[in-house]
Amino acid sequence: MTTVAARGAAAGDAVVSAGANAVASSPERLRITEIFHSLQGEADAVGWPTVFVRLTGCPLRCSWCDTTYSFHGGEWRTIDAVLDDVAKYGVRHVCVTGGEPLAQKRCLALLARLCDAGYEVSLETSGALDVGEVDARVRKVIDLKAPGSGEVARNLWSNVDRLLPHDQVKVVLADREDYDWAVARVREHRIDARCQVLFSPVHGRLAPRTLAEWVLADRLPVRMQLQLHKLLWGEEPGR
Ligand code: SF4
Repeated sequence: MTTVAARGAAAGDAVVSAGANAVASSPERLRITEIFHSLQGEADAVGWPTVFVRLTGCPLRCSWCDTTYSFHGGEWRTIDAVLDDVAKYGVRHVCVTGGEPLAQKRCLALLARLCDAGYEVSLETSGALDVGEVDARVRKVIDLKAPGSGEVARNLWSNVDRLLPHDQVKVVLADREDYDWAVARVREHRIDARCQVLFSPVHGRLAPRTLAEWVLADRLPVRMQLQLHKLLWGEEPGR
């Protein structure tokens, strides 16, 4: 997924954990690329101080991916250890991202545990894997892959039926062809009637102003967004 931001304050500085003590222990492990603290850069929770849990691995290869470092490596961590790390930051919002987090089945247990602990939990997912077993308390941010991504064939359209009103569908657009494709798919599947739809330009490839003018001209029922972390930190690695 494309949300990244600054690795923030040191773990251990703050200590509010929204009921994390009530969480039962678990030996289940996940492969983790990084856990860090920053501002949410995208979607409905944009701007909230958030702890990001980035899971390792992704079966897709989007042409504009900016988190390719999450494809390999990482470190095995128990769900308990992940919850302990998250609690140290003392924030309310947690975003589980990747890579493609759902590529690891135990992601489902992690999401449920985070919800049980009282966090506001979001999941950033490619839209290529089934979201049917994701805890209903989680705000899903599901990508639709436009042609410019090179992964348009991976869209799992049955996920549209899994959308809840608090979820969001995000389309990252590289050019006018992507835009026209996205408008047609939103109308065809009536996605805007199910949840918020977010249009975002590929950083450095589609001018934000151009996309804004297209959205206004077409009176689209979508929210345009820019990636806050790119505005704050540009292409700096690890942010
Ligand atoms: S789904 Fe695409 S953008 Fe997200 S991590 Fe995988 S390759 Fe990158």
